[in-house]
Amino acid sequence: MVRGRSRLDGTRCGPPRVPTEEAILARDRYECQCPGCTSRRGLRAHYIVPLSEGGSDTPENQVTLCAGHRSIIRDGHARVFGRAPDDLTWELGIRPGRPPMRVYRGQKLIRSEID
Ligand SMILES: [Zn+2]
Repeated sequence: MVRGRSRLDGTRCGPPRVPTEEAILARDRYECQCPGCTSRRGLRAHYIVPLSEGGSDTPENQVTLCAGHRSIIRDGHARVFGRAPDDLTWELGIRPGRPPMRVYRGQKLIRSEID
């Protein structure tokens, strides 16, 4: 590897750049990334770990969500964690004192209480 070569090959040759929200939405093909969701309403980049909780401003910490799923996550009924875009785990249907109703790795359902 030659230091300072183009970023086109994926190497880092300087401080990480701060992605714009537009870049996150484009990476995620302007679709809500919550499993099974096809909404494009109110799409925004969502911080997986909030900046206020020490999350980073890198693309790996941001995922595109529709207004509905941002609300569901904000209200504590769903959770996403991991690194975007290829290593995300989703817990949907979070209820106090019980396991989430569905758990996905990426778009793949790995556990469900609903059949
Ligand atoms: Zn959605």
